Amino acid sequence: RILVTTVLDRERENVKGIAITVQDITREVELNEAKSQFISNISHELRTPLFNIKSFIETLHEYGDDLSDRERREFLETANHETDRLTRLVNDVLDLSRLESCRIYRLEPLDILQPIEQTLRTYQLNAKDKEIELKQEVEEGLPSVLGHYDLLLQVFANLVGNALKFTEAGGKVIVRAYLLSSMTPEDSHTMEGATRYVRVEIADTGIGIGEEDREAIFDRFFRVENRVHTLEGTGLGLSIVRNIIDKHHTNVNLVSEVGVGTTFWFDLAVAEASSKPGSIPMDAT
Ligand code: ADP
Repeated sequence: RILVTTVLDRERENVKGIAITVQDITREVELNEAKSQFISNISHELRTPLFNIKSFIETLHEYGDDLSDRERREFLETANHETDRLTRLVNDVLDLSRLESCRIYRLEPLDILQPIEQTLRTYQLNAKDKEIELKQEVEEGLPSVLGHYDLLLQVFANLVGNALKFTEAGGKVIVRAYLLSSMTPEDSHTMEGATRYVRVEIADTGIGIGEEDREAIFDRFFRVENRVHTLEGTGLGLSIVRNIIDKHHTNVNLVSEVGVGTTFWFDLAVAEASSKPGSIPMDAT
């Protein structure tokens, strides 16, 4: 964007000169485009289950008497299922917009074992139902990390939930946490000074993610093709994960082999004795 301003003298009579301001608004334009895209995707995603619910209700209303009990029950079950999908979608969209609008989150020292154990307790039943072994391997004596407990709980829920969803019966899901011994060149841009990091991994023996999809899976609403309609999901879970890990000023990434399994990992800074609770404003721009 180029702004041209005329500069007048004190009496505002004569033009003294011209000021030209050049502003780079690429980012602004990109953000606006991303926002419109998001709204158009959301409208589509919300309309689909709503349309399905309405069709089932209309059919029941108009032709209910001609249907068998079994058919009526099936219609109601599908409408109920679609209502659940709509609820999940609305909840995920609200989570994401809350995350994006709240710029300052307080990081507190916390024991990473606590959100891990809480997540495992929540998902153990689901894992048993699916005959998947769900366990944790957390290094003993880990130092506290700087994190936001509730947001991290959501990260674990999304990643463990996905791992269970995309793993077959007889498979394994393991949540690991260990102190990073030294920084790898790949991580060096996130590692400032002598900060130490705890690495958290959520590893599964599931269907894996092809190389072509590895970056896109973090995009809103992206779901790997051909498995979209068979499993529940909104395509927002990993965007929420990335957003939360961004607020911890570290990275989330994955390694995966199709047919063998996937490991998502992220790092959390160790709460050194000198770092006071709440001393790091997150994303305070
Ligand atoms: P969804 O609600 O569809 O799970 P996510 O954003 O959490 O949305 O994930 C996006 C897509 O990434 C999923 O639809 C799935 O195709 C793929 N994915 C995520 N986690 C895994 C995993 N552990 N194993 C295989 N594929 C995965």
